[in-house]
Amino acid sequence: MKRIGILTSGGDAPGMNAAIRAVVRSAIYNGMEVYGIKRGYAGLINGDFVKMDLGSVGDIIHRGGTILRTARSEEFKTPEGMEKALKNIEALGLEGLVVIGGDGSFRGAIELSKRGVATIGIPGTIDNDIPFTDYSIGFDTAVNTVVEAVNKIRDTATSHERTFIIEVMGRESGNIALYSGVACGAETILVPEIPFTINDVCNKIMSGYRRGKLHSVIILAEGAGHGFDVGREIKNITGFETRVIVLGHLQRGGTPTAFDRILASQMGGKAVELLKSGMSNKMVGWVKGELLVTDLEQILTAHKVFNIELFELANILSI
Ligand code: ATP
Repeated sequence: MKRIGILTSGGDAPGMNAAIRAVVRSAIYNGMEVYGIKRGYAGLINGDFVKMDLGSVGDIIHRGGTILRTARSEEFKTPEGMEKALKNIEALGLEGLVVIGGDGSFRGAIELSKRGVATIGIPGTIDNDIPFTDYSIGFDTAVNTVVEAVNKIRDTATSHERTFIIEVMGRESGNIALYSGVACGAETILVPEIPFTINDVCNKIMSGYRRGKLHSVIILAEGAGHGFDVGREIKNITGFETRVIVLGHLQRGGTPTAFDRILASQMGGKAVELLKSGMSNKMVGWVKGELLVTDLEQILTAHKVFNIELFELANILSI
């Protein structure tokens, strides 16, 4: 394989740059040319390509976001959009493509591989909702961002004896809430995977209060409810003052943690190795400390298992 492309697609995640760097440098080391495609599949349709060299990925390993930009492209899902993309791929002579993104981006990669373009997926999403990998790039950084924010909130929560509801990202996945909740020692973690009643939440706050707890921190995944609604209901039932903080896009930004940089570097290097050996339609994952290669189709039919043991442990530790 002589010439490959790389793109980032869907939501951005800290560590994507480290993955881009790893792909570009590994490919050049292996005698390949690399083209960066700007704004995901939209760039593939518009021919928005830039030749990457060793220097073009210098000084980016520590930066959040993605130097290639990212986008969502509805046009790419249409036959006309796909045709335009394939024409551009052919005109440029790209034989392989590395796609960094979430499951939507992998659907696009599968479509390309069906049409003869060798594609390798790298999981890059803060939600950590991709199966066949313990972690996706950006998740560890997002969790650490939440933990830092909650550390600060705890100081003021204790001083004012208040209940704080911290709404974090995760429409369908409670992973950020679960992991940050355990790391923060949150009193309550609310996730879309586990049903709850507001009365249970209130009972826990009140029993904590009775035994002298000065504050209560509730981490709420956005998919489990709206922070302001939950805050209002708790106040109505318990009479306690509540404060709601929606962390929002803060969680997507920031310098990637060492863990995310190492994960991204390993996955990027492996993606190039797979393309070089003629593989296509695969995702590079990381399971129990080792890289794992899985068919992209399998990723889309499976479901990431929620870590129920960790959730139960969190409940035990916050009695
Ligand atoms: P995140 O989970 O962070 O949102 P994602 O990769 O799942 O990331 P999506 O918006 O679902 O994000 O998908 C990104 C892009 O992938 C879409 O805008 C579209 O261009 C492409 N895509 C998604 N589904 C398909 C499909 N069925 N066929 C072709 N392309 C697709």
